[in-house]
Amino acid sequence: MNEKSDLIFELIDLPPEGVRIHGRISFAELDIAEETRFSFPNELDYDLLLAPCGGNNVLLRGKLRSVISIICDRCDQSGELVLTADDVCHTYEDAFGKVLDLTPDIREDILITFPQKFLCRADCLGLCVHCGQNLNEGSCDCAAKAASSDTNPWSGLDELQLS
Ligand SMILES: [Zn+2]
Ligand SMILES: [Zn+2]
Repeated sequence: MNEKSDLIFELIDLPPEGVRIHGRISFAELDIAEETRFSFPNELDYDLLLAPCGGNNVLLRGKLRSVISIICDRCDQSGELVLTADDVCHTYEDAFGKVLDLTPDIREDILITFPQKFLCRADCLGLCVHCGQNLNEGSCDCAAKAASSDTNPWSGLDELQLS
């Protein structure tokens, strides 16, 4: 056996080159709950290699990936966010002959990839604070109006006189 998919198993033996562990797990199984700003339409993919690393110890390396749904913190539109952890690395000491549960470490590794802010894209322009226009879709003239009234406090009066 040099491939498996479960994250909880009794470690009896390992070939020197290790065993590849790959599969999917739901966020519910990882005990990560959805919140208003994000939800999980997909499972988490894991692709790991568990190999002996001296004595009774084993080394787990590999990567995690999932695509989650988010509501952008700036523009309130829904979007997708790719979560990846490319440097999963854990050692388990004295692991042979015991039940190994990789789930808590996988959970932690993906949780730290959650950003502080959820953005539909890194350069999301957000909404105009004055009129609510989504500035990713086009500009409004609020900024121009504010600028012109800043430079000329009488511009409002001029318009009145003209009309
Ligand atoms: Zn956005
Ligand atoms: Zn505006």
